[in-house]
Amino acid sequence: MPSLLSHPAVPLALAAMAGRRLVPPPLLAAGVGLSLLPDLDGIAFLFDVPWHSPFSHRGLTHSIAFALLCALLVSLQAQRLKADRLRAFAFLAVSMASHGLLDACTNRGGGVSLLWPLDNTKLAFGFRPIQTAPLSLERLFSGEGLLVLQSELLWVWLPLAALVFGVRLLQRLLPAHWQTLEQALLAGSAAEQQRRMR
Ligand SMILES: [Zn+2]
Repeated sequence: MPSLLSHPAVPLALAAMAGRRLVPPPLLAAGVGLSLLPDLDGIAFLFDVPWHSPFSHRGLTHSIAFALLCALLVSLQAQRLKADRLRAFAFLAVSMASHGLLDACTNRGGGVSLLWPLDNTKLAFGFRPIQTAPLSLERLFSGEGLLVLQSELLWVWLPLAALVFGVRLLQRLLPAHWQTLEQALLAGSAAEQQRRMR
């Protein structure tokens, strides 16, 4: 895995691009939480779960299907997240699914069950530039941790920061277009609110 510091980079970048109106703080907090959730399966190491089991580390909790299911369940609380259900679902699904996709770009760790339940094979991308973070804290706080941090800055934070910069620049250059898009994306909230008031 990339370290726990870097998985939230995706929801944070999405929120920085979309702004607080589209991604209010409660929705962002839920996205950060879901981006970290898949690694709870690290508990599998305590129980010697076989590597090819869906319940092993990087198994079903890292799949795209599980991310969609969790996003669906959390988006039922859209009102508390200050968003409409569709927007909350989309944001949460991307935030959580990005965890498995980032893990599949790490140079060690044996792949991720991205396609579970269709296929339990642990998959990794051909291009794996991110240094795998060690699970032991002792190793993480050694020189190895510094290498992990460097590779995450280069391959996770830097590309996302460039993307945020590019999108923010476009928003400034084309303010009318951005406002139209923002209004269209916010229209779902207004419609949902009206339905609730009826
Ligand atoms: Zn992971």
